[in-house]
Amino acid sequence: MKKINSSENIRYPGPESKKIISVIRELEGSGTRTFVTDPPPMVLKSAKGARLQDPDGNEYLDLFGGYAVANVGHGHPKVIEAICAQARELIHCTSAFCNPVRANLMQKIAEIAPKGLNRILLGVTGTQANEVAFNLSTTRSNKKEIIAFHGGYFGRSNAMVAISGTARIRARLGIEPRAHFVPYPYCYRCSFGGCDNPDECKVIDYIEEMLSSPASGVGNVAAIFAEPILGSGGVVVPPDGFLRKLSQACKEHDVLLVLDEIQVGFGRTGRMWASEHDEIVPDLMTIGKGIGGGLPVSAVLGREELMNFWEPDIHTTTFLTNPLIHSAAIAAIEVMQEEQIWKNSAELGKLLLNTLISELDGHALVGEIRGKGLYVGIEMVKDKKKKTPAKEQVKKVQSQAKEMGLVLGLAGYYGNVIRICPPLTITRLELETALEKLIYIFKHM
Ligand code: PLP
Repeated sequence: MKKINSSENIRYPGPESKKIISVIRELEGSGTRTFVTDPPPMVLKSAKGARLQDPDGNEYLDLFGGYAVANVGHGHPKVIEAICAQARELIHCTSAFCNPVRANLMQKIAEIAPKGLNRILLGVTGTQANEVAFNLSTTRSNKKEIIAFHGGYFGRSNAMVAISGTARIRARLGIEPRAHFVPYPYCYRCSFGGCDNPDECKVIDYIEEMLSSPASGVGNVAAIFAEPILGSGGVVVPPDGFLRKLSQACKEHDVLLVLDEIQVGFGRTGRMWASEHDEIVPDLMTIGKGIGGGLPVSAVLGREELMNFWEPDIHTTTFLTNPLIHSAAIAAIEVMQEEQIWKNSAELGKLLLNTLISELDGHALVGEIRGKGLYVGIEMVKDKKKKTPAKEQVKKVQSQAKEMGLVLGLAGYYGNVIRICPPLTITRLELETALEKLIYIFKHM
């Protein structure tokens, strides 16, 4: 693809993109994100590395990574090669049978898994991996209750909606809550009035009280489900040491800690796993998104005693494991290992965060800029004192960015956070070009 010209102004959607959107909208049942009109959905024709192309020939730099999936870059040649070779050999092998690709993927995941998490259950989507973690934690003993966090997102199945923080979706789907919800350590919007020292974060005290007070309304808790960094909740980075304290609290109360590394794992935050920053290993960990190299692969990882108590045939689906998608995951993991991509994430992540802070921290619409590695959020507010979410302005930034050939995602409790999660293979030059455009947009608002 040719170099992106920073002065180009894209009129999106172009005629070809419009046609495709309209065909899909005419045939697809409603409820999918393709029906959102502001902004209209992106239409992609091709993607390579950190560059995207729409059917009208427009090119974009990708700061979104297809919902934080393109960790090893779009269309990595080794992933393509692996898929093509596997397609010629064996595409489908029911999960009731075995095949060498499945065995190989298990070994590959075991190589990058946190120490001690040496049992694996494969899946297809992140939601599915979380479902399995939910079922494992609620069936191993008579403990059935779950604690989850405000702003948490674990997927869109029944049980995952029931423990995610978005009541709007639950209400629309008629799903009852299935968790005790606690505030996430969201320092910018602290639920406990703030503190001077992150070491004094009150969230842990609150959880301790929930778990120990006979009056808290909380019974036998099986597990606490947490994201190491809130993703859809707005790229909320907890204070250093929070996960360690959470892990300690779980151990003291014999509660499982289930960490969802689906979005922030696999190199995203500058380490292989986000939980490494706090040097902890959860009881169960779910992974997905980037590990498939663009194809849908997920897994639950856990210690033997937490993963080996189900009798055969309790858990299956036809496509639970599939050689074609697994060949892509093996290649993606090898690429991650060989190219040590998390290092690029750490290094360019610093450049990204520091540049945004130095250029935009005092901006009238910027409440907070935060992140780790190539996972950064810009929370936009209309009023810095009241922290009123700048919902219209955030969309304006997003659509203007698209016109300038830059794809951005949004997140946050109020949808007012720009989420930056490019392919981790993005080059310094590409990132600098993207930053130039983004900063230009803010400075001309
Ligand atoms: N967990 C987290 C943290 C996520 O961000 C997502 C998806 O965005 C999921 C789980 C669900 O994964 P999937 O959409 O692959 O089912």
